Order: sequence, then structure tokens, then C-alpha cells
Amino acid sequence: MGEISQCSFCGSPKSDAGLLIAGLDAHICESCIEQAHEIVLEEGRENGEPKEEIAKSPKPKEIYDHLNQYVIGQDEAKRHLSVAVYNHYKRVQSGKSDDFEIEKSNVILAGETGTGKTLLARTIAKMLSVPFAIVDATILTQAGYVGEDVESILTRLLQAADYNVKAAEKGIIFIDEIDKIARKSDNPSITRDVSGEGVQQALLKLLEGTIVNVPPKGGRKHPDQKFIEINTEKILFIAGGAFDGIERYISRRLNLNVIGYKSIGKDQISEDNILKYINPKDLKEFGLIPEIIGRLPVVTYMNPLNKSALLSILTEPKNALIKQYVKLFEMDNISLEINKSALNYIVDKAIDYNLGARGLRSILENILLKTMYD
Ligand code: ADP
Repeated sequence: MGEISQCSFCGSPKSDAGLLIAGLDAHICESCIEQAHEIVLEEGRENGEPKEEIAKSPKPKEIYDHLNQYVIGQDEAKRHLSVAVYNHYKRVQSGKSDDFEIEKSNVILAGETGTGKTLLARTIAKMLSVPFAIVDATILTQAGYVGEDVESILTRLLQAADYNVKAAEKGIIFIDEIDKIARKSDNPSITRDVSGEGVQQALLKLLEGTIVNVPPKGGRKHPDQKFIEINTEKILFIAGGAFDGIERYISRRLNLNVIGYKSIGKDQISEDNILKYINPKDLKEFGLIPEIIGRLPVVTYMNPLNKSALLSILTEPKNALIKQYVKLFEMDNISLEINKSALNYIVDKAIDYNLGARGLRSILENILLKTMYD
């Protein structure tokens, strides 16, 4: 082929075209590539893509049973989530009439790090074959400040959906560290709480269901960037957080109840996981604004993982860590066995690290490094 001179699509000369990519007997410039991409996206949006429909939402028990294959313990959270997801997709299917609307069942999962919050959300999304995105609330800021606008949450979901808007609009978003954007009520001198209340306000719209202009590539809103419209009405939001220190509010509230009523005797309150008594009032005291709490009506909790739970996590779930390593070795025709005392050792180390189940993987990786290398 001769000397590249111009874009075969728009005719821009090489000198103006920026990058020119060569095909068999044509060239295309950057701006034509972008336009072609837009057209592809546009097509995807219009062609209903029926296979993305959630044909029939599984029953709560089916969701719960499915979660049991992957997530150890956390019974209460599993039940809450199963029902919330079931109702959510019933709501999605029922559509909207003028005088009656079933409200969203977005969820708050409170519990320490590494106890399976993300895993629960991810497992549900996989089961339903809907796009799934994880975002960290700490990177979000109020529009106009340094950080990411809340719309970037939807960019992630859009990317997870391969830019299929219809699919993204039925996806699940896990917002991690929601507790980190609590209002810092202890410090009234902060007049502009950029990272806290402002972000909560910005999140509100997304949670309640609205049409949002999403920058397809994320980052800051930019006047030149084309937006993609996403309706968040059918997106399920699951927000997770450790809510460090919320125990204070819970126990204070429970003690008040002890004085006021006889219904909850103090001795009936088991102290092992005070989080199990968490309710929206406590979230408010912690610093979530009432509107946000109203939009996250399902509140449930995770239990800390004790030794026996960690042992189960190593070996029992469908894709348990030990099973994964056995498989890895099997591919080299090596049979790997890890005995009881080794498992105990790994779990004890993980408890030392205080990272919940998160530590397990890196401990195993370190122990097996030399063997895998050899
Ligand atoms: P969180 O979101 O609560 O911080 P994750 O869900 O990210 O924790 O957990 C980290 C990893 O630890 C998961 O990918 C999973 O391998 C393991 N894990 C944590 N909790 C559980 C659990 N209850 N059952 C099975 N695996 C778990």
C-alpha cells in the first residue's frame, strides 16, 4: 500500500488526523474511531438485547441456597438479601403505575472487613447474570471538588456491562465503605463537609432512581464529553461498611429500652456481636443522613468470622481457596494435600492478621510459593 495520506472515512489529511490506523486498503483517524464506537453503543441500546432480561427472578429460598454454596455463615444477611433481591426484581417486573409503586429495596450490610460483604453481593450478581460493579465511597466527592463525581459509579457499571445500557440498568452496585462518608457530627466547625454529607446528598438521587448523565469514560465531567443516559430505577444498590464504633449507639439505645420496657432484658442481649441489633436509628446517630437511610431500607449485619468459620471458608465453598490450589497443582499432575494441622496454622495466622478471611489467601500464597516455583 502506498504512503498514508488521509483518513478514508472523513478525508482528514494525515497532518490533522492525529493517529491514523491502517487497515487492508483504508485508514481511519482517531475521531472516526470514536464516532464509530458511539454508533456501536447506540445500536446496542436500541436492540433490546432480550437475553439480558432476567427471565424469572429466583425465589428467596433459591437465592439463599445458592449463596450457601459460596458464602460461609452470615445466615441473617443471606436471608435479608435473598428477600431484598427477590422483591427488587419483582418490582422491576411489575413496572410502574401512576398511583402505586413498590419502593426499592437497597441494602446496607454492616460488618467488619473480610467477612463476605462483597462476596455476597458479587455472588448474587453472578447468579442473576447481571452486571456488577464495586465502588469505594471514599473516592467520591461532591461535584466540583477533587475526587470522583458520584456519576462515576455508573461509569463502572456501564463498563462492567460492556457499555450495554439496558443491561447496566438492571445491574447491582456494591458501594463499599459507606460508613466513611458519614457526617462528622463531632466536629461542628467543619462547615463544608466535602467528603461526607455532600456525597451523601449526591448519592441520594442515584439511590432513589433517576436518569443520570454518565460520562462513558469516567473521570470528571467535561463539557466536550458525550454523556450516556442511565436510568437508575432498576439498579440494586448494596452498601457495605464496618461502621466502627456504632456499637456505642446500639448499646446505648438498648439500655434505654431496658429502662423503658421490660421487653428486652439486658441478660437477653448477647454481647458477641452487638451489630445484630443494628437499626436505622443507629445509622443516623453514626452520621448517615435520614434521606440516605430511607433509601437503603434493608439493614442487616455480618458476623465476625471465628476459627471454625475460617476453616470452613478454606475448604467448603464451591470455589474454596484450598480447592483452587489443588486444581492449580493438578494441572501439573501434582496432587496437593493440606492436612488438618496445616489448616489450623493458616487460620491462626489469619486471626492474628485480623483481616477476616482476607488474610487466608496471602498466607496460603506465601506458604506455597516455593512449591509452586519448583
Ligand atoms: P468484605 O467485603 O466484607 O470486606 P469480602 O467479601 O471482600 O469481604 O471477603 C474477602 C474474601 O474473603 C472473599 O473473596 C472470600 O474469598 C473470603 N470470604 C470472606 N468472608 C467469607 C465467607 N463468609 N464465606 C466464604 N468466603 C469468605
